[in-house]
Amino acid sequence: MKIFSGIQPSGEFHLGNYLGAMKNWVKLQEEHDCIFCIVDLHAITVDYDPATYPQRIINATKDALAVGIDPKKSILFRQSDIKEHAELAWLLNTITTIGELNRMTQYKEKSEKHEQRVGLFDYPVLMAADILIYHAEGVPVGEDQTQHVELARDLAGRFNQKFGETFPIPKALLTETKRVMGLDGTGKMSKSNSPSTYIALSDTPEIIRKKISSATTDDGKATEISQATKNLIGLLEVFAGKDRADYYIKEREAGTIKYSEFKPELAEAIIKELEPIQKKRAEISDDDVKEILADGAIRLQGIAAKNMIDIKQKMGFVIE
Ligand code: ADP
Repeated sequence: MKIFSGIQPSGEFHLGNYLGAMKNWVKLQEEHDCIFCIVDLHAITVDYDPATYPQRIINATKDALAVGIDPKKSILFRQSDIKEHAELAWLLNTITTIGELNRMTQYKEKSEKHEQRVGLFDYPVLMAADILIYHAEGVPVGEDQTQHVELARDLAGRFNQKFGETFPIPKALLTETKRVMGLDGTGKMSKSNSPSTYIALSDTPEIIRKKISSATTDDGKATEISQATKNLIGLLEVFAGKDRADYYIKEREAGTIKYSEFKPELAEAIIKELEPIQKKRAEISDDDVKEILADGAIRLQGIAAKNMIDIKQKMGFVIE
């Protein structure tokens, strides 16, 4: 299967990004034809600092490499290096309705926190272009992105119908941990919330222990297990295995769970998972990243250009 996914170079990556998307990327690259993108054109749809932006892009790429994206198995590049993303977004804009974009919950949420800019509104169309320009069939994302992948499916189908068979219909590939909640138990873990609500991939063991020890749980006795507690036990399942999670679920059901025992165990399991990632990240230089991104762009340029010629031909741009 041809796979495409992207991540924004904004803020620190956290366990939500890792479990919802990035860890799956690493697995998928073993068997599929994968393209992973640092989506720097997406991240400017809200306020950002141009002075620090180049380093943010480099840092985000380092995170992807540290997590295990292997440039020998996958293509890793950044969005603005391939101009066809923006070009196809424009073409797709002409077959997208305002009503469709108005339904996007991410826009509704983001436009409450940020200025209502056209770029932010149009974000899902650019994402559809990212996917379709490479004829991707699978898009590994977290649950919050499934609505955007749905739009990409609709646009691919609509384009094919209007202009002739061109794009495969892509589908979202979700993980078991498709929606990791924040440590306060409210909403999804997100880098736009307070750092105390997420574990960043770069957090030190000390910070991880502190954040987990203040994570929200229920009182351990009420009949209904809270979402916050479920989320934490879910994290333990991922990092320490089903047996350990089952043990605490039983304890919780019996009303005998000791969070003073559970929380340190969870913290240590997360620390153990992140340790090799952090070690690897420290070994990657800025120059390594520049080389990998340049190579990724070279490998994709021809594919994007060829697919764009076909798209433009179908849309009636080519004068014979
Ligand atoms: P975007 O804003 O485009 O989603 P992000 O950088 O925020 O980009 O997210 C990158 C990936 O991480 C996306 O696939 C997204 O669905 C996933 N993701 C983000 N937060 C979570 C979460 N709390 N749980 C699961 N997946 C998540």
